[in-house]
Amino acid sequence: MIGAGVIGSSVALELARSGYDVVAVDKGPGAGTGSTSASSAIIRFSYSTRDAIITSWEAARRWENWEQHLGVADPDGLVRYIPTGNLIFRTTGYDGAAMLELWDEIGIPHEVLGPAELRDRFPWLDPGKFYPPKRIDDPAFGDDATEELTAIYTEQGGFIDDPTLAARNLAHAARHHGAEFRFRSEVVGIERSADAVTGVRLSSGEVIEAPVVVNVGGPHSSGINRLAGVTDDMAISHRALRQEVFAAPAPTGATLEDGTPLVADLDVGQYFRPQPGGMFLIGGTEPECDELHWVDDPDSNSEYPTGEVWETYMMRMARRVPEFGVPSQPTGLSALYDASDDWVPIYDRSSLHGFFMACGTSGNQFKNAPLAGQYLREIVDATMSGHDHDADPVKFRGAFTGRDVDLGAFSRRREPAVTSGTVMG
Ligand SMILES: Cc1cc2nc3c(=O)[nH]c(=O)nc-3n(C[C@H](O)[C@H](O)[C@H](O)COP(=O)(O)OP(=O)(O)OC[C@H]3O[C@@H](n4cnc5c(N)ncnc54)[C@H](O)[C@@H]3O)c2cc1C
Repeated sequence: MIGAGVIGSSVALELARSGYDVVAVDKGPGAGTGSTSASSAIIRFSYSTRDAIITSWEAARRWENWEQHLGVADPDGLVRYIPTGNLIFRTTGYDGAAMLELWDEIGIPHEVLGPAELRDRFPWLDPGKFYPPKRIDDPAFGDDATEELTAIYTEQGGFIDDPTLAARNLAHAARHHGAEFRFRSEVVGIERSADAVTGVRLSSGEVIEAPVVVNVGGPHSSGINRLAGVTDDMAISHRALRQEVFAAPAPTGATLEDGTPLVADLDVGQYFRPQPGGMFLIGGTEPECDELHWVDDPDSNSEYPTGEVWETYMMRMARRVPEFGVPSQPTGLSALYDASDDWVPIYDRSSLHGFFMACGTSGNQFKNAPLAGQYLREIVDATMSGHDHDADPVKFRGAFTGRDVDLGAFSRRREPAVTSGTVMG
């Protein structure tokens, strides 16, 4: 295993459960200290494809029954799933109609709220339509709303209170099943015979022999795939994309305790959720007007946010939440998504026998980590027993929904999926 973030630790747990002698190697100081530590840790079901929606719906049951999922108590304590509900504005290019059909089929309860209901239930929100999202130096930024929006609301969804602890919980459970974690150990080479992986080489020169290697390197994973020489047959590429997330005080009546939902707002290009302590956590949804900052060397990314992005997000928040008081100083962070071409992750084998990947998590897979581990376990078990997952993709039956997820949906060789083209997936 290369990487012990929330996905890597989950894969380690499931492979250990499956009887593998797991060694998880991470160059960081502990589990979940990579991009996982910056995650907004939102749990939602608003994806574009059937397989993605079932995945998130199934995964949520594991977060709700976390100790049962882990199978062991962690002396460091367990993460908590904080339910908030989810409000999703419908705007030009995003009416959610196809998603709602899938929600009906799968049984995800929801309602559609008109502007009057929105005002009644969330009086701190302005339901105005400001589309398209704009830069703040656009003279049209302050224009009045053209009409009013409707929104999809579900009581389902929320967030996990501590994303790093989630990875540590998974790593603890993996250790319970015999997995070994080695931190401050960097993989610099992939060892191979003519046609199969044989292990990894560390910067210390040590070689760890292994017939199975899983690349779960987060924003570093595209570089690791290049190192392994497995990009030749990948139809989907993935690379590191800089993000900034901020915390700011929520206005009166809009705190977690007031029942504030997490809000997806492609109309202004933001998402936000309540944060304990009377705060909002605020991130962006890659609107067309914002330049995307791709990062070639993930180690070069500054963890400090910029004044420019902060100002933009704060001004956009003030459009949607008129009582929002823009703080005098930024409080936030910068971290990297490992964004794939279609914003769908890659959970798959590779062209090199024994080398697997769980990457391209596109800023939207924290919530699916418990299932990502189980998906990799199915794919690794099947492949190492001689099954051709490329020709005949493994199906995963959800224990909660009883529905099948076609793991070919996460193939490196798929046609790009039709999605929102944003972090919403
Ligand atoms: C700002 C931000 C907000 C997000 N918000 C949400 C959200 O609200 N909801 C949601 O579902 N998802 C969200 N995500 C996405 C989610 O957090 C990620 O998909 C997930 O955390 C990725 O986990 P990972 O284990 O794959 O990667 P990481 O946590 O990045 O772990 C990769 C690990 O690999 C290690 N590594 C890399 N290279 C090497 C090497 N050569 N040798 C050894 N170790 C190596 C690193 O040290 C790191 O610990 C967000 C992501 C970001 C960045």
